[in-house]
Amino acid sequence: MNQYQLSRRSNIGERVKVSFEFFPPKNDDMEARLWDTIKRLEPLNPQFVSVTYGAGGTTRERTARTVRRILEESTLTPAAHMTCVDASRDEVDQVISEFAAMGVKRFVALRGDPKEGVGAAYQPHPGGYANGAELVGALKGQGDFDISVSAYPEKHPESPDFATDFDMLKRKVDNGATRAITQFFFDNDLYERYVERARKAGIYIPIVPGILPIHSFTQVANFASRCGAHVPAWLAERFDGLDKDPQTHALIASAVAVEQVHDLVERGVGDFHFYTMNRADLVFAVCHMIGIRSPVTPSSAAA
Ligand code: FAD
Repeated sequence: MNQYQLSRRSNIGERVKVSFEFFPPKNDDMEARLWDTIKRLEPLNPQFVSVTYGAGGTTRERTARTVRRILEESTLTPAAHMTCVDASRDEVDQVISEFAAMGVKRFVALRGDPKEGVGAAYQPHPGGYANGAELVGALKGQGDFDISVSAYPEKHPESPDFATDFDMLKRKVDNGATRAITQFFFDNDLYERYVERARKAGIYIPIVPGILPIHSFTQVANFASRCGAHVPAWLAERFDGLDKDPQTHALIASAVAVEQVHDLVERGVGDFHFYTMNRADLVFAVCHMIGIRSPVTPSSAAA
C-alpha cells in the first residue's frame, strides 16, 4: 500500500493513539499561548499530555502549576516529567508525593541532563537517584503509577554502545516502567531497527515514537546535533532556503511530519507522542491526516 492509498483509509484514527508534550511557560504571554494550544488539541482526546521538567529541576514550580491547571481546567490526563538532577532522594520523593496529592497518576521518569547543559559530564547528586531506572523504582514505591521512560533509537549520546542503553532500559522495565517514549528521529528505519533490538534484548513494553514537527529547521538541526539525533541530508534539502519563508516552511514541515507518521502507521505503529513545542497547528494537521479528529473541526463546522 502506498501513502496515497493510506491517506484515503478512513479508519486509521480508530487504531492510533496519541499523546502530546508541552513545556511549562515562563511568562504570561507564553502561558496564554500554551493554553490556546491545549484548548485546540484537547478535543483530539489524547491518551495523556505530558509537561516537561526543566534542566536541573529549574521548573519544579512551573511544571507543578501547569499540571495542576491541566487537572483543574481541562478534561486531559496530565503526566508529570521528573528528573533526578541536583536533588536528594528525599527531595525527589517529596516532589512525587506532591504530584500524587494533586491527583497525578502518570509520570515521565528521567535522569535528566547535567545542569551545565547537554554534553557536560553527568554527576549524580551524592544522595540522589543515579538514573532513570532508580527514579522509576522510587515512583513505584509510592504508588501504582503509569510511568513512561526515555528510549534512544540512535543511542544516548553518553552511552558507549547500544547494549548499555538496553541494559538501562531493561532496568527501567524491571522497576515498573509502563512504556518508553523515544527521542525524536527522522529516519524510521532507525526506529524500527531499535525496536527489533529491544525485543531481542527481552524488552517488551511499548516503545512509542517521539515525533517532532519542525517549526524551525535551523533550531531543530542545532538541537539534534547536541542530543545525538541524525538529520538526514534529504531533510536538510527540503528546508533549504526556507529560513525567511515561514509559510512554505510550515507547509513542508507538515508534509514531512505526515509522511513520517504515515510510514510508521504502515509499519504497524499505533501510538505516537508529539513534541508540540507548545504549538498546535502542525500537530493538529498531522492528527487530522491520520484520522484523529475533534468532533467539531473548523472544516466540519463550516460544512
Ligand atoms: P537514563 O535512562 O538514566 O540514562 C540514559 C543513558 O545514559 C543510559 O541508557 C546509559 O547508556 C547511560 N547511563 C546513565 N547512567 C549510567 C551509568 N551510571 N553508567 C553507565 N551508563 C549510564 N530532560 C529534562 O531535563 N526534562 C524533561 O522533562 C525531559 N523529558 C524527556 C522526555 C523524553 C521522552 C526523552 C527521550 C528525553 C527527555 N529529557 C528530558 C532528556 C533526558 O533527560 C536526557 O536525554 C538525559 O541525558 C538522560 O536522561 P534519561 O532518563 O534518558 O537517562
